[in-house]
Amino acid sequence: MKINRLLLLLLALAALPLTSCIQTGGTTGISSSSDPGYTSGEPLSPELPVWSAAETLAAAEEMIDMPTSGIVDVSRADYSYEEMTEDLQTLAVVYDEHFSYHSIGTSAAGRTLYVGVLGNPDARRQIVVSAAIHGREYMTAQLTMKQLEFYLRYYDVGSYQGIPYSELFEQICFYIVPMTNPDGVMIAQQGLESLPEEMRPLIEECYETEEHDVFVTFETYLSRWKANANGVDLNRNYDARWEEYDGADHPQSYQYKGPSPASEPETQAMVALMDSLPNVIATLCVHSQGEVIYWNCGQGEDTRSTTRGFAEEVSKRNGYELIDEQNNDASLSDWSELERSVPAITVEIGKGALVLPTEQFPTVWLENYDLLPLTAAYFLSIPDEVSTAQF
Ligand SMILES: [Zn+2]
Repeated sequence: MKINRLLLLLLALAALPLTSCIQTGGTTGISSSSDPGYTSGEPLSPELPVWSAAETLAAAEEMIDMPTSGIVDVSRADYSYEEMTEDLQTLAVVYDEHFSYHSIGTSAAGRTLYVGVLGNPDARRQIVVSAAIHGREYMTAQLTMKQLEFYLRYYDVGSYQGIPYSELFEQICFYIVPMTNPDGVMIAQQGLESLPEEMRPLIEECYETEEHDVFVTFETYLSRWKANANGVDLNRNYDARWEEYDGADHPQSYQYKGPSPASEPETQAMVALMDSLPNVIATLCVHSQGEVIYWNCGQGEDTRSTTRGFAEEVSKRNGYELIDEQNNDASLSDWSELERSVPAITVEIGKGALVLPTEQFPTVWLENYDLLPLTAAYFLSIPDEVSTAQF
């Protein structure tokens, strides 16, 4: 299956001239929606002139107008772990110049945890992106994967505020974990069947012991699952004021912080990833939902204004509300700030549903397609002494 898809893609690439989807001399430089060039997802020629913001936006609109074309399918909300794995492999083949991926560990149920590496791996600075750390928030994995495809396809022509993507990603390398909690995602999408048999009784016990509305069926309960396969909320499992976090005292679908800080393999993998990188300057945590941005964990003066500025910049772009109130919940972003002095924000995409429906994807996409270039541009705009003072 994988091989067939790759083969088709490569055949499509070979059959099309590189400039097939560009209207030379047109106003936007973007192809019409019937253009077979986009469907093939081939890289564009680095010789092409860099696009304006309007032209980059037109490409983003085009990408969303054809939800099943390209590599990452955004026509259905239930983007699975298997699809993500296959897409990472395809992206790494088609865009091998600027992208690779590798394992950073194994989940509680035995799924490989992947990080995608976008841009120049020798860059002096790195930014870590984590999505789908909560199971039911799988649209964040789909968004992150579609962003990856977009930046790779338009690597040499796309731009953010006049800066070409190529320049941004050459100077700052992104380490993207699109599915930080693959077991949780698969429980929310496919229920108990997604787990090895020996892990199922614990989940059934969670349903029995967790306080929830009496009318919530087991199926619905599972579809709202946030934790990992051990019933630990991974975004409450980090060693950042972990003792102070007062959530559930037993495994359940959310808010159980685990038996000890970083008890879970998924948490350990993220910690090891951060520790393996020489100069992480920011952490971006993508969640759903609420259209808000959390930035305040009571961090020290070393990162506070940089983090607040980062959150403001994102808010200006996607229109999400800044939450200034301090909250501490042993999350990845708390740990990044408090234990590693790395500025971190949490962006909550979408609104109005615990599990975001497919219909919200176009809105979410247009609000956030340039989130990573924006992040790179923001940190490049800060004088070096400030952005790396914490190291
Ligand atoms: Zn979340």
